[in-house]
Amino acid sequence: MINMTLCDTILLDMDGTLLDLNFDNHFWLEFVPLRYAQKHGLSLEQAQQQLQPRFKAMEGKLEWYCLDYWTQVLQLDIVGLKTEIAGLIALLPHVLEFLTALKASQRKVLLVTNAHRASLQLKMEKTCLQPFFDAIVCAHDFGMAKEQHGFWQALQTAHPFDKQRTLLVDDSLPVLKSARQFGITHCVMVSQPDSQKPIKETSDYPAIVDFRQLIACL
Ligand SMILES: [Mg+2]
Repeated sequence: MINMTLCDTILLDMDGTLLDLNFDNHFWLEFVPLRYAQKHGLSLEQAQQQLQPRFKAMEGKLEWYCLDYWTQVLQLDIVGLKTEIAGLIALLPHVLEFLTALKASQRKVLLVTNAHRASLQLKMEKTCLQPFFDAIVCAHDFGMAKEQHGFWQALQTAHPFDKQRTLLVDDSLPVLKSARQFGITHCVMVSQPDSQKPIKETSDYPAIVDFRQLIACL
């Protein structure tokens, strides 16, 4: 599917690629609305109805991933709430095997995430994945989300890579599209980012359900 021998740099997304998106989906769709409802004397359903369009309006923008932004506009301690349910943070299947094999293969491995630093820190504490990466890149450091074209140029300037010898694995179609437009040749989609949801169908990118398919290509 992907000729991994051609790739010396591997760019990996965090949420929905290495980590189960169930945590984030549960957090934003259930837990935050629940606490918002309690704060404002609303039913859970009312809170979900109020919050959904506000979340939707920020999709793909850096604010969507910014915990400071949501802390301010919702007047909720978002980092504190994340910590409360941190027990739900989990790796997707075969991620550890893949990262171990990748490290042994001497490739350059970067974690490239839109996640806010506070969220990243909590997730690294819970999963202990940090030693597997040569660098961890947070989109907030560049002031642009991965969906934005300029992000990839900023990434390449900070961490030089050959676009033709780089593999990106991500679960977001807009992110994959933006990376491909920049010229990253090998883009793979994770088709089951949330273990509690069905597999997403795509014909635009080579897709993996779990990392066994990439381990086999190493
Ligand atoms: Mg993701």
